Amino acid sequence: MTLLTMTPAYGRDYTSKAAVLKDWQAGKDFQIANAFHKDDGRYINKQDADRDGISASIRYKGQTRIVIIKPEKPETVTPASNGGMHASITIDRVTAAVESEMFGTDNPGFCHACGESAEGCEPDARNYTCGSCGEAQVFGAEETMLMVQP
Ligand SMILES: [Zn+2]
Repeated sequence: MTLLTMTPAYGRDYTSKAAVLKDWQAGKDFQIANAFHKDDGRYINKQDADRDGISASIRYKGQTRIVIIKPEKPETVTPASNGGMHASITIDRVTAAVESEMFGTDNPGFCHACGESAEGCEPDARNYTCGSCGEAQVFGAEETMLMVQP
């Protein structure tokens, strides 16, 4: 992950870190200021940065001070809420898989290491080998459901 440099957009400036963070949290525009970066000069706000997983140092007080901002992950996919599995394994995704298993002929599962969907898993399959990443971390949908719930 790269650390971008940003400056306040439209000639704004700040004298305190708190003021920078207040506007950042409010979703105001900042401008990327990495001379050799492909996005140099692009306007960016917190929403963009969170979505793209961007960390940055924002310069303020005449560009003499910096404050570091980090992306916030959407709450539903933090590792803490899904037992440390791959972040793409959300409760919604697992629910859909369990439904397709119950009401159809699918036997879906998930690789907890890389997040790939797997097929041909018994509902209570554990530690099958992933065809995508090779880890023995494929679990059946129901088994995953038990682990994903708090
Ligand atoms: Zn995998």
